Amino acid sequence: MATVEIPTVILPRKPQGAFRNEPFIDFSRHENAQAMRDALTRVGDQLGHEYPLVIGGERVHTGGKIESRNPARPAQVVGVHQKAGAEQAEPAVQAALAAFGKWKFVATEERAALLLHAADIIRRRKFDFCAWLTYEVGKNWAEADADVGETIDFLEFYAREALRLAAATTPIQYPGERNELHYIPLGVVAVISPWNFPFAIMAGMTAAAIVTGNTVVLKPSSDSPTIAARFMEVLEEAGMPPGVVNFCPGSGASFGNAVVAHPKTRFIAFTGSKEVGLDIQERAAKSQPGQTWIKRTILEMGGKDSIIVSADADFEAAVSGVVASAFGFSGQKCSACSRVIVEASVYDAFVERLREKVGDLKVGDPAQNANIGPVVNEGAMDTIVDYIEIGKKEGRLIAGGNLIDTPEKGYYVAPTVIADVAPDARIAQEEIFGPVLAVIRARDFEHSLEIANNTEFGLTGSIYSTDRVKLDRARREFHVGNLYFNRKCTGAMVGAHPFGGFNMSGTDSKAGGPDYLYLFSQAKSVAEKLS
Ligand code: NAD
Repeated sequence: MATVEIPTVILPRKPQGAFRNEPFIDFSRHENAQAMRDALTRVGDQLGHEYPLVIGGERVHTGGKIESRNPARPAQVVGVHQKAGAEQAEPAVQAALAAFGKWKFVATEERAALLLHAADIIRRRKFDFCAWLTYEVGKNWAEADADVGETIDFLEFYAREALRLAAATTPIQYPGERNELHYIPLGVVAVISPWNFPFAIMAGMTAAAIVTGNTVVLKPSSDSPTIAARFMEVLEEAGMPPGVVNFCPGSGASFGNAVVAHPKTRFIAFTGSKEVGLDIQERAAKSQPGQTWIKRTILEMGGKDSIIVSADADFEAAVSGVVASAFGFSGQKCSACSRVIVEASVYDAFVERLREKVGDLKVGDPAQNANIGPVVNEGAMDTIVDYIEIGKKEGRLIAGGNLIDTPEKGYYVAPTVIADVAPDARIAQEEIFGPVLAVIRARDFEHSLEIANNTEFGLTGSIYSTDRVKLDRARREFHVGNLYFNRKCTGAMVGAHPFGGFNMSGTDSKAGGPDYLYLFSQAKSVAEKLS
């Protein structure tokens, strides 16, 4: 173990005005495209470095290593990371617990300032962070920018939200008393994040936790530890004291399980698959010797998201929205459209136009800004291929269905569309998490809604229609956490589209919304009798 001197002074910094979403980078402008190419070169020179665990501010090396590789060229190592095992759970939780003793009493203004400084740092190095995402998980420029922008948004938004919560009051003052309401932190949180929004979701859950006064054991996905290590560096540069966030990439099965089960872990903030989320829920429910609380779980899980195309829809807008929702980042979004439900009278024309549009997509290296990049790893590619084989039996393959070979042996799956799929077919029900879209024929609008609601999930959904009556019915009856009208079902914006799903899609925590920080706090009511 080596101790490294890091600054731990958080300079004052107030939010500048009301929250506004970070603007997207316009890569059609020459100077921005050039800045991105320069960043890819700069970051390319930094690939392959080894990163330590950071526990209580100390740099820790372990025997086991995780190699993060570029899915577009798997021979390229993006970062080498220590692999935290079950034995690191104890020191990590203890370091977080020790830091909690002080951090919980740090003024909200100071904790919010930490987030705002972190946002400033990321904004200054935006192109570099985009480049890290391109290398580590295969995001093209716009997808990488959306992830970095959302990270900045979460930091800016939760800083303001924490200040709002700190000013909370009781709804009434009881006569003869002074009544107060304080949102206080919970304790040590295990933040367990996925690889598909490896920056925004990882940083968002962490930021929400620390700005409300909790301390964190951060376990990023083994497919994306480098961007998390870079975020850890940002927090330290912004003045975060040691132990407030403890950076521990490691396997879910050993380290993840051990942290979830630890009696001093107060709560778990998880985003990932349904299977792992449910497993965490079960483990967290079991009280351990020495545990003095009921563990809270915030579980955001998978999706099987539908777009309904009504007979009266703007046809071209619907086709474009479906293609963007289904194939952006190779369909590796919890919000991705994986089933499009089309009314019978426009079905054949829609399928034909969809086939043409999908044929126009360029698959290739995300560093060259192709429309569609690789899927994240070989295991994911194999799973997707298995589903395509199932889909070929369940419907009619009209586009894709194959892997794409490149000299670098990237994990490329062609955007795939399977038509004439039954609403209860496996590819219409199970989350594939890749570029595979099922097209389902509906008799009429009534039938479309029925199909849209027939999965165990309930994350996002969209309807393309010009009929106000249909939209109003969908508003009431389309049972998803994030419903969109006449636009794609991906691309939730912090503040405007608080994000989280129903049913097996999770606990509907609504990240980026006004209720989110309550989940990271507990309310304490104080009443003083006035003399
Ligand atoms: P995953 O469930 O495989 O892994 C998520 C995290 O859990 C990783 O850090 C992993 O190492 C860890 N983990 C695995 N087993 C564990 C265990 N037993 N105990 C503790 N931690 C464990 O998911 P993924 O492949 O990284 O991400 C894709 C999934 O995430 C998809 O299902 C997608 O829909 C979902 N997702 C949901 C949302 C949302 O907001 N609802 C957002 C993004 C992704």
